[in-house]
Amino acid sequence: APLTVHVPLDGGRDYDILIGRGLLASAGARVAALGARAAVIVTDETVAALYGDRVRESLEAAGLRSGVIAVAPGEASKSYATYAAVSDGLLAHRVERNDLVVALGGGVVGDLAGFAAATLRRGVRFVQAPTTLLAQVDSSVGGKTGINSPLGKNLIGAFHQPRLVLADTAALDTLTQREMRAGYAEVAKYGLIGDAGFFAWCEANWRGLFAGGPERDEAVAICCRAKAAVVVRDEREDGERALLNLGHTFGHALERLTGYDSGRLVHGEGVAIGLSLAFRFSARLGLCPGQEAGRVANHLALAGLPTRLQQVPGGCGDAEAILDAMAQDKKVRDGALTFILARGIGKSFIAPGIDRAEVRAFLDDEL
Ligand code: NAD
Ligand code: ZN
Repeated sequence: APLTVHVPLDGGRDYDILIGRGLLASAGARVAALGARAAVIVTDETVAALYGDRVRESLEAAGLRSGVIAVAPGEASKSYATYAAVSDGLLAHRVERNDLVVALGGGVVGDLAGFAAATLRRGVRFVQAPTTLLAQVDSSVGGKTGINSPLGKNLIGAFHQPRLVLADTAALDTLTQREMRAGYAEVAKYGLIGDAGFFAWCEANWRGLFAGGPERDEAVAICCRAKAAVVVRDEREDGERALLNLGHTFGHALERLTGYDSGRLVHGEGVAIGLSLAFRFSARLGLCPGQEAGRVANHLALAGLPTRLQQVPGGCGDAEAILDAMAQDKKVRDGALTFILARGIGKSFIAPGIDRAEVRAFLDDEL
């Protein structure tokens, strides 16, 4: 039986996250149980080739009319043009108000298909079938959907909660090592945010997670439980949901500086450097023991992730360039920045009013 995490949102919007090996082959019955005539799959071409037929056949065997809309893989598909094509594709498949959109793929597909579902006929229900580790532990849970504007990432979007999340952990067997590691940075992040016991568990069990043992399902479930708890308390990120951005203030700046689709740095690699920086910065401010910051970077490095600015392929510019890239992301008030910092592993907090000059001096030392 799959592991189940229940997300108790109010207003009849509660849903289950199911986690287990091989779930995609039985997706049909679980999706059909939601009640619909049609369930149309939105995916990317890579995932379509690997899992598209399996899911479509399962949906059809359960009596659902189905179809597949496959976009090009990659961040560039979170665009106005692809959003329009997916929306029109869903209409051409005669998706009605009571039907379902099935987002089969990584975070790009989840964000794009979720947003198309949010706006199609003023909102149709959707199911997340995440196939990357990042999507299984992060993007498929929480209801944030959207696309990019030429003016910035994720600027066009909607909150639209899925009706069901099906995380088939066997699908991760075909991920590249690089994508697996990148997703792992987000896994470790949950321990660092608020669960020191889970971080210690990661230090002991990460190899089993990578190898596809029962540790993988367990880790995905723990992460989903942690994210769901935060989302239920702060669905629209008015407060504590911001903790999920631990490591992302620095990480997003590095992604911006290297270019999102350049392949120089994938999101999770930026996050790994960002997590290491957030802990070293916390230690420098005297908030966190230096030894804890060392433990964070050591573990991420052991799992094959970068932890220092010098490891950004092609370089990342000077401290001023990084600060400018961060300012685009964060609310800068009178030269002060908001960071997620930590008093130790599992003890993160929102720290507003961090002095720009302080960050600058830290980055100068790091570079
Ligand atoms: P992705 O969706 O681009 O997937 C990465 C690559 O892996 C793609 O080339 C894809 O085709 C391939 N792939 C997917 N599943 C595979 C499988 N099982 N086997 C082999 N290859 C597979 O990237 P991602 O890292 O999953 O997601 C990143 C996106 O998620 C970003 O756009 C980011 O903004 C978004 N995101 C959203 C949220 C949210 O809360 N909505 C949170 C975090 C990230
Ligand atoms: Zn992230």
